[in-house]
Amino acid sequence: MTTMHRWQGRERFVILATAFGAGDAFLDAWQAWRDDPQRCERLVYIAIEPEPPTRDALGAAQDAASPLVEALRAAWPPLTPNLHRLSFDHGAVELLLAIGGLRAWLPELVATVDAFDLATLPSDSDARLAKAFARLAAPDAMLVAIGHPPAWGAALSAAGFNVDIEQQAGRGAIHARFAPAFRPRRAPARMPAQRAEGERHAVIVGAGLAGCAAAWALAAQGWRSTLLDRHDAPATEASGNPAGLFHGIVNAQDGLHARFNRAAALAARGAVQAAVDAGVPGSARGLLRLETTLTVMQMRAVLHRLALPCAYVEALGADEAGARAGLALDHPAWFYPGGGWVQPAGLARHFVARAGDRAAWRAHAEVQRLERIGSGWRLLDASDNTLAEAATVVLANAADALRLIGAADWPIDSVRGQISVADASRLATPRVPIAGRGYLLPAIGGEAMFGATAQPGDADPAVREADHVANLAQLARLTGQPVELTPADLRGRTGWRCSARDKLPLIGAVPELAPQGARLEQPRQVPRQPGLFLFAALGSRGVTWSALGAQVLASWVTGAPAPVEASLLDALDPARFVSRRARRGPNRPPSSRE
Ligand SMILES: Cc1cc2nc3c(=O)[nH]c(=O)nc-3n(C[C@H](O)[C@H](O)[C@H](O)COP(=O)(O)OP(=O)(O)OC[C@H]3O[C@@H](n4cnc5c(N)ncnc54)[C@H](O)[C@@H]3O)c2cc1C
Repeated sequence: MTTMHRWQGRERFVILATAFGAGDAFLDAWQAWRDDPQRCERLVYIAIEPEPPTRDALGAAQDAASPLVEALRAAWPPLTPNLHRLSFDHGAVELLLAIGGLRAWLPELVATVDAFDLATLPSDSDARLAKAFARLAAPDAMLVAIGHPPAWGAALSAAGFNVDIEQQAGRGAIHARFAPAFRPRRAPARMPAQRAEGERHAVIVGAGLAGCAAAWALAAQGWRSTLLDRHDAPATEASGNPAGLFHGIVNAQDGLHARFNRAAALAARGAVQAAVDAGVPGSARGLLRLETTLTVMQMRAVLHRLALPCAYVEALGADEAGARAGLALDHPAWFYPGGGWVQPAGLARHFVARAGDRAAWRAHAEVQRLERIGSGWRLLDASDNTLAEAATVVLANAADALRLIGAADWPIDSVRGQISVADASRLATPRVPIAGRGYLLPAIGGEAMFGATAQPGDADPAVREADHVANLAQLARLTGQPVELTPADLRGRTGWRCSARDKLPLIGAVPELAPQGARLEQPRQVPRQPGLFLFAALGSRGVTWSALGAQVLASWVTGAPAPVEASLLDALDPARFVSRRARRGPNRPPSSRE
């Protein structure tokens, strides 16, 4: 049976392929999917490629006027070393591009693969590689490859594949089907979420950036959602500032934070650009982040070592950075060409608009508590009236989500922040946002916005003069120029960031809070509360994190391949706090950095 016949009538079909070349095999699969009236709803093509082509080299063997080639070129990302998710045909076709080698990537993929198209396997057979294919394989998954028999045949058979090899001059065309005699073991966090046949609806609590982005990402996977919020409009709390910045980060160690922020910033660029194209105030045309420790030569050495392309980030000397900003600057800067700013509430509303009729919205619905019922959840208000019942619930209501799940002792802080706004005529404003310790935005509608303060545990909603003074001092340090404004010239707004102390969001299935059992030190081994998911703690980076975070959330809910590596998935998993407690013992308090 061909790949095409096997995808017919399916909700989702996942192909994992090597030898991406100029993208021809992907383009052929996409075209075949379009041409097949009985195609699956969603096609996911995972390409593992150490040396992906440049944009111009894509589709070289295809018709030059092909709209598919044009769409692929338009979506082609800066080739940074991480997983890239490119989406086509309104999200129904997805290309996950993993830049690097097969051995490095297989353990980092979280997906259920229906067809492996592996071109040439390494010359030595490898039992670990064969097991890695088995770990990803769906029941009856087909594997096609060129390899050296009989060793590969034996390795694949031992991993649970039925193997058939056509001999060709010492090499073999391997055809295999995954049909293990044993039941493959999966960690609780890697099991597909249980749901009734055809059930594809989620209730989302909270309609800030997180909840609205979740509705969009679920809709892209064919799910409907109902957004509940306690206010009369979306995005009126933390997501209600007039503007917010988004950008990646560079870190010489390229650890989890840098990798997640990079992938998130690349996803944010697409989401913000789509919103700006639809009329939301914002710009994805670059951002400068001042560097006060490294010289520009040291910065360039870091970029060279990390192989980060200038389409993602450039190191600029102070003069060059100043020329981009249109303001004299004292420090070198990282220039993120795909960074920028956007009105968060506009972005949130745009996410909901993109979900179309798959997202419904309910105002004045404050969830007081959750109750487990049968295989789902009941959401109740303060008078114990039922607001909603659902098999799948996503908690995207920032700090209040922790109260609802009874995890108020997790190391998460509410951090008050006040922004300051002046008439733009009173201040020299940059052409692109400048960030560092604090930030200054370009003039927007005649106003200049800068800030912000960060005060953990401060619940005062009032706009305070002392905070304007602090923001003015921070602005003077950032720009290296005296600022001739007083608090009387400023307006302000306060809000609260919900921030985990490890500086990463919480995205995933809600864990059992006091589980018993072995191997709990690994988040993926922690048992979950069925049908209950969390997307919270977006800290001071909700604009940057919301699009990718929502796609990660949607992969947890729907079983779609994860758009980030397994190591990042674990780092974002709310079960990390349960695992840390298991590691240090129940009676010792968390360290301040946890
Ligand atoms: C001063 C300041 C400056 C910032 N600057 C930036 C920036 O430049 N760039 C950036 O990326 N980020 C910035 N942030 C952070 C960003 O605003 C947040 O990360 C983001 O808005 C969080 O979105 P959220 O949806 O998680 O939370 P929120 O926007 O707070 O949304 C939570 C929603 O849940 C609802 N809700 C809560 N409890 C319930 C309940 N029980 N029932 C029903 N509804 C409920 C609330 O009404 C609210 O609408 C800033 C934040 C502050 C405070």
